[in-house]
Amino acid sequence: ASVFAGILQAPEDPILGVTVAYNKDPSPVKVNLGVGAYRTEEGKPLVLNVVRKAEQLLVNDPVRVKEYLPITGLADFNKLSAKLIFGADSPAIRENRVATVQCLSGTGSLRVGGEFLARHYHERTIYIPQPTWGNHPKIFTLAGLAVKYYRYYDPATRGLNFNGLLEDLSSAPTGAIVLLHACAHNPTGVDPTLEQWEQIRLLMRSKELLPFFDSAYQGFASGSLDADAQSVRIFVADGGECLAAQSYAKNMGLYGERVGALSIVCKSSDVAARVESQLKLVIRPMYSNPPIHGASIVATILKNSEMYNEWTAELKMMADRIISMRKQLFGALHERGTPGDWSHIIKQIGMFTFTGLNREQVAFMTKEFHIYMTSDGRISMAGLSSKTVPHLSDAIHAAVT
Ligand code: PMP
Repeated sequence: ASVFAGILQAPEDPILGVTVAYNKDPSPVKVNLGVGAYRTEEGKPLVLNVVRKAEQLLVNDPVRVKEYLPITGLADFNKLSAKLIFGADSPAIRENRVATVQCLSGTGSLRVGGEFLARHYHERTIYIPQPTWGNHPKIFTLAGLAVKYYRYYDPATRGLNFNGLLEDLSSAPTGAIVLLHACAHNPTGVDPTLEQWEQIRLLMRSKELLPFFDSAYQGFASGSLDADAQSVRIFVADGGECLAAQSYAKNMGLYGERVGALSIVCKSSDVAARVESQLKLVIRPMYSNPPIHGASIVATILKNSEMYNEWTAELKMMADRIISMRKQLFGALHERGTPGDWSHIIKQIGMFTFTGLNREQVAFMTKEFHIYMTSDGRISMAGLSSKTVPHLSDAIHAAVT
């Protein structure tokens, strides 16, 4: 008998499992609104033109080799990534007090940041929003932190539970870490307004809570890289400390290349240098050093102004298509006279709509209409197209009537 004979079958990942089920369905009308990956109007994955160009340049570069990167990754990539999220004129960058390391996309950046905090920070509790991306509690628990939740979403308004959020952060222990979605909150699509961010900042600074930003959708929410980084930048502008995990999965379409960065903004360049030295000790035994290809693509695009502009145009095109899907879905439900207030579809921000459909309604839509989505009622707007909106609207209409 196998020495592994006693091993139990593990459950599918709640998000990636949706695609597994979708792939098994032979129906020609099936629609996958589960995983958060951009699709064109034709339902196809997209490689940005500017990414293809950068890859051509890299392939044709005669001096390019495939040596190991340093433990901290590609230096240019790190500098440019910090500039992208904190802003070109950020005093923290100017004063050389940001430690940035290249990591394995957003997930890897969160994990490295989590492990660093578990080893070196005085308060081991991290507060994450209720609800949040399903991987957050697992990443931080395995990193060695204690995970607690703060109230975030109000099902009654399908908006932000701002008072609940302030109350929960007020009663968190001094120094606790707080995970904040920089923009386009996943799964709810609900973001604080800039005024609310300012109140969150004041409260967090007064309680010495440590902000850890998860930025997986910069530029993807509004179409503007600067607008989507406002939340992070107001925290950096006050001179205080914070962490930021960046992902290029969505905004450059580099999902499988696993490109991201972790930045830790410190009070002085001296502290930042020591922080970086400890980040290396976290990374070295975990995966030694990060992969070179994706980071080279990003650095190539970010340092060339023409390519940078081409990128922002393509990014805006993706964001606009998603915003247009929101309008079309809202319009189609309105046309059908579907009962209920569906205005949250156009109010919510980013890749996902948190529909408010319950587990039973989701199961019904999958069974009867072959529409695949996570059981919490989250749909990926990027997986929709003008062609599939009517089918989805019919399904929602049938589910709620
Ligand atoms: N954070 C959030 C909120 C996300 O939605 C995602 C992607 N689903 C990630 C982080 C990380 O994704 P990746 O590791 O692919 O960059």
